[in-house]
Amino acid sequence: MTASRERSVKLIPEGPKGTIAASKKPSRSEVEAAFRTIIRWTGDDPDRDGLNETPARVTRAFEEYFAGYAQDPAQILRKTFEETDGYDEMIVLSGIPFESHCEHHMAPIIGRAWVAYVPTGRVVGISKLARVVEVFARRLQIQEKMTAQIANTIQEVLEPHGVGVVIKATHGCMTARGVRKHGTMLHTSRMLGSFRDNAMTRQEFLAMID
Ligand code: ZN
Repeated sequence: MTASRERSVKLIPEGPKGTIAASKKPSRSEVEAAFRTIIRWTGDDPDRDGLNETPARVTRAFEEYFAGYAQDPAQILRKTFEETDGYDEMIVLSGIPFESHCEHHMAPIIGRAWVAYVPTGRVVGISKLARVVEVFARRLQIQEKMTAQIANTIQEVLEPHGVGVVIKATHGCMTARGVRKHGTMLHTSRMLGSFRDNAMTRQEFLAMID
């Protein structure tokens, strides 16, 4: 490991940024009680048969939706492989499906991500790129921030020649509420290093996106 790699790895915080300590989190029964209150507020009866178990189920579902707070995305990328026989071309994982939730309405964001990088001697297991997408998706998000977070993390940890991330997603806050525009899709991208500076690299990547 070179000195510059060690330095950059140390800049990454040990725990996930912007999260609260486990000891300060509300208990499961407090969360279930909150969902009971919400059901009552809609006008329904949380004690009727069909809704009896709902607060517990929704709490478990939320645990899944927001599992990304307990994971450090930088840690996922730490294990790399250097025996690549000099492979130095673009690596692209395309169309990674994800489900996230917008931080303004907690409405679903459903989409796909394209993640690419040009390695400098070492590569990461391909499933790890999908896991980084997953960790950031399983937090309250806006798509622009999620796109940048994925690209920045790969750039900081792997130190490749460049990183490209494109996300296309539909937003529940636009389709199910508010302006109710079905079929609209938000496209975001973040290009770093050679993907930002070299038009051919960027085009090669963008041509793979359908
Ligand atoms: Zn929203």
